[in-house]
Amino acid sequence: MLSAMQPILKLLARNTCALCNRSSHEVLCVYCLKALDSEQRSTALVQTDPMKLWAWGEYYGILERLLTLVKYQGRKDVGFFLGNKLGACWQEANPLEAMKLRVVPVPISTERRKTRGYNQTELLAQSFCRWTGYTLDSQSLMRTRDTQAQFGLSPKARQENLQQAFLWKNSSQSQNTGVLLLDDIFTTGATLYEIQVVLTKANVPILGALVMATPRL
Ligand SMILES: [Zn+2]
Repeated sequence: MLSAMQPILKLLARNTCALCNRSSHEVLCVYCLKALDSEQRSTALVQTDPMKLWAWGEYYGILERLLTLVKYQGRKDVGFFLGNKLGACWQEANPLEAMKLRVVPVPISTERRKTRGYNQTELLAQSFCRWTGYTLDSQSLMRTRDTQAQFGLSPKARQENLQQAFLWKNSSQSQNTGVLLLDDIFTTGATLYEIQVVLTKANVPILGALVMATPRL
């Protein structure tokens, strides 16, 4: 129970906004929160092929700064905060009619996890699941090898870079429960496509993917 409370206690301990110097007991002050909320997409559904993809916003402005804090500045509290935003957005849109599902965060490599200390997408998934009541499954999907950073690679090179980078382990959880993949940033879709191939081979139904941000068009 105490470990479940820790993110909340940590959050309460801070007294300035994560983005500006204004005093705030929340992750963001009212001004930055308002600015962030104005960046939320009017419709969460981004595309339906090859799988349904929902996104909270686009990778720019306040959201980009927050995702950078989670990924590179060790701000786990910002990760939990963004997961709550995703949860609220999901419940508002209710795109799968409250179906039973398990949430699978896109894993990072063991090496990267060691360096960073955590998987930022797992933080989002943890608070998303607390908000929605869905089952979190961060054990079944493994990243079997490190892939070089996707940034700067051509779409074809990204695809090759990811081949056989993921593995689905037999889990004790029901194989029939549909999976909702969760990732922080969607780029070309190469990662999600590669995971879809792996899950399809393992006969695991995949209902779609939810991301915090897509590239700005
Ligand atoms: Zn602020």
